[in-house]
Amino acid sequence: MTKNLDVILGAQWGDEGKGRVVDAASEEADVVARFGGGANAGHTIWVGGKKYVTHLIPSGIIRDKICMLGNGMVIDPRTLLQEIQEFASQGLVVWPKNLLLSSGAHIITPAHILLDKIASQGKLGTTGRGIGPAYEAKARRVGLRVMLMKNPPAFREAVRKHISDCNEFFVRMHGVDALDADAIAQEYFECAEHLLPYIKDVSRLLYGYLRSGFKVLAEGAQGALIDVDHGTYPFVTSSTTTIGGVFSGLGIGAEHLGRVIGVVKAFQTRVGNGPMPTELFGEQAARLRGVKGDPGSEYGATTGRDRRCGWLDLAALQYAIRVNGISELALTKLDVLSSLKNIKICTAYELNGSSCSVISDGADDWGIFRPLYEDVVGWDTDVSQARSLRDLPGAARFYVGRIEQLVGVRVRSVSVGPEREQMFSIY
Ligand code: GDP
Repeated sequence: MTKNLDVILGAQWGDEGKGRVVDAASEEADVVARFGGGANAGHTIWVGGKKYVTHLIPSGIIRDKICMLGNGMVIDPRTLLQEIQEFASQGLVVWPKNLLLSSGAHIITPAHILLDKIASQGKLGTTGRGIGPAYEAKARRVGLRVMLMKNPPAFREAVRKHISDCNEFFVRMHGVDALDADAIAQEYFECAEHLLPYIKDVSRLLYGYLRSGFKVLAEGAQGALIDVDHGTYPFVTSSTTTIGGVFSGLGIGAEHLGRVIGVVKAFQTRVGNGPMPTELFGEQAARLRGVKGDPGSEYGATTGRDRRCGWLDLAALQYAIRVNGISELALTKLDVLSSLKNIKICTAYELNGSSCSVISDGADDWGIFRPLYEDVVGWDTDVSQARSLRDLPGAARFYVGRIEQLVGVRVRSVSVGPEREQMFSIY
């Protein structure tokens, strides 16, 4: 069986720089498919000084690959149309020949967005885009699926009923104003008319592509440590961000699986609440966070909030490698560590006086883990011009090699800046 399905997954808490890794890998791919999440993800890709931001559409669109949105996703049709338009304004043609929307994906409505705001009130640090409530509706078997859009008038009625049902709950239980069911139903009807030609049986088409030997790339969103099952529950996203999500979220089997690439930042960041054993504070955190506005600095893409920053956590990475079967790593943002005198790597945790490196029991345990560090010497030189491993100073090469040694997985590529050309393969 041809191993023509490669997967790119976040191996930390998200924001690892998956977008640029997918962009590089998609050069060789025919199809790039997203399998989970919604517009809570955001990839930023720089090509020749031009910035592209994707929220729903796979990063492969920049290279005009066939892009698919799988059934595991939750999609606000208004956001999707807006993204199509934004790409058009940047000169990228997005049309039904290069964008295919699974009929099995679920639809996000303004009621889900309002529910998100009411329910979380910032506690879990959600992006407030209705993602969680849309997945809840899916699990309760009351969700609206993309396939409904194939009949726009019937879809309009389904949306109207859904909003009216939700309104009762909003008004009675929370005393908030009812949503305008008629206006929303009409807006979604118009979206359906626009999106109709994009709606396809993605699972069946992918099966055909894989059987015919086309190269398919599955693009992950978020990271392993916020997976709904395997992350630091309850501080997680609502979907499967780990390997299983690829198969359930695209409707394909595993027989074509080839490389599983884990994207890992050279340090650790986290958005929102939840345990983060290697977190730094004050000046040290600010140094890793970088200057607001600089490409790649660590501030929330939508909220502008400071991201929590800390030392690279290899205990957590080892866990991500295990639950995903990661076969190689793509290391990003090595440039950010330049000029630090000393760098720490967390190699394991200590729990009740004994060392442990396995994370198994959720957020409560994570909170009491004490990170055990190994010190490595930093490097003074700016590495952003490096285009091969040889160009890196010895200490930076040592850092990369030490990661490989400690986790037992090869680092296949390194990036030293956000631009396409600032990433190179090292074997
Ligand atoms: P994703 O959510 O994992 O896809 O993360 P993004 O694609 O949004 O990447 C996070 C940010 O880091 C973006 O602004 C990227 O341009 C930037 N970035 C990615 N790789 C590097 C790198 O090697 N160095 C620097 N300085 N920035 C990078």
